[in-house]
Amino acid sequence: MKRTKIAEALQLKNFGEEVNIKGWVRTRRGNKNVSFVALNDGSTINNIQIVIDIAKFGEEYFKPITTGACLSVNGTLVESQGQGQSVEIQAKEIEIYGTADPATYPLQKKGHSLEFLREIAHLRPRTNTFGAIYRMRHHMSYAIHKYFNDNGFYYFHTPIITASDAEGAGSMFEVSTLSMNDLPRTKEGKVDFSQDFFGRQTNLTVSGQLEGELGAMALGLIYTFGPTFRAENSNTPRHLAEFWMIEPEMAFYDIKDNMDLAEDFLKYLIQYALDNCKEDIEFLAKMYDNELIDRLNFVVNNNFVRLTYTEGVKILKESGQKFEFPVDWGTDLQSEHERYLVEKHFKRPVILTDYPKEIKSFYMKQNDDGKTVRAMDVLFPKIGEIIGGSERESDYDKLMNRVKETGMNAEPIWWYLETRKFGTAPHAGFGLGFERLMLFVTGMTNIRDVIPFPRTPNNADF
Ligand code: ATP
Ligand code: MN
Repeated sequence: MKRTKIAEALQLKNFGEEVNIKGWVRTRRGNKNVSFVALNDGSTINNIQIVIDIAKFGEEYFKPITTGACLSVNGTLVESQGQGQSVEIQAKEIEIYGTADPATYPLQKKGHSLEFLREIAHLRPRTNTFGAIYRMRHHMSYAIHKYFNDNGFYYFHTPIITASDAEGAGSMFEVSTLSMNDLPRTKEGKVDFSQDFFGRQTNLTVSGQLEGELGAMALGLIYTFGPTFRAENSNTPRHLAEFWMIEPEMAFYDIKDNMDLAEDFLKYLIQYALDNCKEDIEFLAKMYDNELIDRLNFVVNNNFVRLTYTEGVKILKESGQKFEFPVDWGTDLQSEHERYLVEKHFKRPVILTDYPKEIKSFYMKQNDDGKTVRAMDVLFPKIGEIIGGSERESDYDKLMNRVKETGMNAEPIWWYLETRKFGTAPHAGFGLGFERLMLFVTGMTNIRDVIPFPRTPNNADF
C-alpha cells in the first residue's frame, strides 16, 4: 500500500478506508488491553494516533513499540473520539522497522534542555522543537529564492574556495593540501604555497560579495545564497563559524534603493513565515516566546526607522543608559547599543547609515564629507544586526585610495578592481545572515539551535 504522509492523513475524511502510515513513535500510553501510540513522520508537527488492540498483536510483538521506534502501520482511518485531533488509525498490521531500546534511547523522556539536545545533534531533529525549526529553514530558503525569482534577480553561484580576503570581514579558514607536519619552505623560510594544490594560498570564503559584484555588472540583479565561513573565535549566541548568507547585488541601485529592497525583502520573508509555517510558529511561540507572533506582525506592519550612525550615536550618548562598552563617534556599535536603539528608543527595526569609513569595508562608497561611507546596517529586536550592506564605491581612483589607506594587498583582488575600469556603474548590495533571520522568525535565542549542525569553536563533532 502506498504511504500516506501524516500531514495529509490528518486532513482525510474517508473514514473506514485503509491507509499506510510510516513514522517514529513519540509517545505510547494506554492500558493492558489497548495502546495509543503517537506517530510522527516529520511532515507536520502534529502526530497521528495509532490505536492498537494489544491482544490482537500479542504482548511480545507489541513490547518493542516504544518511544523512538520506527513503524509502518496499515490500518483503518477512523474519526477520533479524543480531543484535539480529527483522525486516528485503528491498527491492522504493524511492521517494526527499527526498535529504540528505552534503556539507552536519549529521547525516551520529554523535556530535555536545548543545551542537552545540542549534544545529541544526530537525534534532535526528532524533537518537536527541531522538527519545527528545520521545516521552517526549508520554507524560508524557498521563500528567499521565490522572492528574488519573482523580482527578476538571478541566482549567481560564487565560489566557496577563494584566494581573496573578501573584505577583511573576519579571520579565515585556510584551505590546503600541504602536510601540516612537513610544510615546504621558501628560501626566506616562509611556507611555500606555490607547492600547494592551487599554487597559492587559499581559504574558505567569508562573503560572496566581491564575486557577486561581477555578476551584477553583467546580469543587473543577482543574489547569492550559500555557506560562509568565519574563524572568529567569538563564542556568542549570534555567531557561527559556518553560516549561510544571502547577498543580493544590484547594478544601478543607490543606498536608498538598497534600503527599500532590504526592508521589503525582510517583510516578505516574515509574512511568508506567518502564512506558511503557522503551526510550527505557534508551537515555538507556546514553548519559548509568547510574544513571537506579535513581534513578527509588528515588523511586517511598521516602517523601519532610518537614521545616520552619527544621529544614532548622539541618541546613545544622551540616553543616560549604562553600557558595558562605551560609545563614541568612531567606535563600532556593539549589539547592546544596536538593541537599545531598536528595543528601547525607537521600538521598531532601525536602518543605520553613513558609518565612519574606518570601521567599514574598503569597497563602500565614500561620502563627500571625507569621513563617512554609504553603509547601511539593518538592526532588529532581540538580534541586533541582521543585515549589513552599502552602496559600493564605483570610482576606480577612490576605491584604490581606500585599498592603499587600509593597507590591503591589491593583488588577490585585481579582477575585482577591474570592474571599476571597464564599464563601472553605480551599484549596491547587502548580506543577510540566514541564521540571524531564523533566530528572528523562530524566536530562538541561540544561533546553535537554528542550524542542524552548528560549527562553533571546539565543536564540529557532527
Ligand atoms: P557582526 O557585527 O554581527 O559580527 P558583521 O558586521 O561581521 O556581523 P557582515 O560582514 O556585515 O557581518 O555580514 C553580513 C551579515 O551576515 C550580518 O549582518 C549577519 O546577519 C551575518 N553574519 C555575520 N557574521 C556572522 C556569523 N559569524 N554567524 C552568523 N551570521 C553572521
Ligand atoms: Mn556588518
